[in-house]
Amino acid sequence: MRTARKFDDIRRSPIIDIADSVRELEKRGVPIIKLETGEPHGTSPRAAIEAVRSALTRDTTHYSHSRGLPELRSCVCEYYNGLYDSALTPDRHVLITPGAKQALLYALMSLVEPGDEVIVPIPAWSSYIDMIRLAGGAPVVAATERARDFEVVPEIINAALSKKTKAIVLNSPSNPTGKIIRKAVLERIYKICLNHDIVLIADEIYDRLVFDGYGFASVLSLSKDLAHCILINGFSKTFAMTGWRLGFTLASPEIIDIMLKIQQNSATCPTTFTQYGAIEAMRSGQEFVQVQRRYYQGNRDRLVKECASMQHIRLLPPEGGLYAFIDISGISSDSRAWSLDFLKRFHVAVTPGIAFGDSAEGFIRVCIGTSGENITEFIKRFKACIGST
Ligand code: PLP
Repeated sequence: MRTARKFDDIRRSPIIDIADSVRELEKRGVPIIKLETGEPHGTSPRAAIEAVRSALTRDTTHYSHSRGLPELRSCVCEYYNGLYDSALTPDRHVLITPGAKQALLYALMSLVEPGDEVIVPIPAWSSYIDMIRLAGGAPVVAATERARDFEVVPEIINAALSKKTKAIVLNSPSNPTGKIIRKAVLERIYKICLNHDIVLIADEIYDRLVFDGYGFASVLSLSKDLAHCILINGFSKTFAMTGWRLGFTLASPEIIDIMLKIQQNSATCPTTFTQYGAIEAMRSGQEFVQVQRRYYQGNRDRLVKECASMQHIRLLPPEGGLYAFIDISGISSDSRAWSLDFLKRFHVAVTPGIAFGDSAEGFIRVCIGTSGENITEFIKRFKACIGST
């Protein structure tokens, strides 16, 4: 059988592979503390769940508008226009998608032609690299410096530029480092984009999960009409709605119209009844977001304190997002082997740093969007493992 060679370079997601091995262990009856995926703690907002129940009784089991329900697009626009004094419109600037992941793929497909390069600062969420390849482009990694705690700086973007550069993908707060790109830095990177006719794809999926003392800057604060920008976000992390598969994009009508063509000819539209729940989440779930954020802040603070007292390891204090990025290079230089050993002997699943790029080797990523009990267990077992290494 002759399968397509163009997928030869595309890797399976190492993060999802780990999650699958965890499921297999669980099937054999081994209880695992699961901190390997960005799965927010707790149930989605009750009111959103009720809104879906009620929607289902109203025969909402058919296709929706291919851009997403107009009411949901309006909610998204109202939220952003209120925050940034922009004039984004539901019919021209928004596309609702089956998850932010789908939105990112559409965005890349809408820009990239064969051979075009897309810059990704690393450490980065591994899907960016493979999505760029899926879209037919060439990923160009821009390594941030470990000595500067993986801060994204304009200099690394400048160094990665070429005539073929079509886009840059930025993720702030970052998965996996937990770092937030300061507004002044974002502005400088945006200027590079404007000067070189490059599009800035901003994955802002963790924008509401920002820890005390830190500030988030959206690309919308740089350009109210999103010139040369694509803003990606979704409901998964903000509202603990990962399984609902709903994301959205805000961009110029030129970009949205191309993304719409891709959606119409692939997914058709996002699931209709889950969109009714998302409308309710936007309308009444803002307190829920704050409660979740405070909960994660508690987990983060405990981990920061505990790690500070441990020898041979260092935690980069998370500024936002769902993860703690821990330097274990004082214990092991093989994060994959170490994580597998930790899983097998201590029944805790974390993601090895190598999954986020070569420069992240020697780190592990731990999800802090989990229960306080899981964090307690992680600390206990991590200390025991380190003591025993
Ligand atoms: N972007 C980043 C940085 C992520 O970490 C994730 C999920 O882990 C996503 C996007 C995907 O979000 P969604 O569930 O909306 O597809």
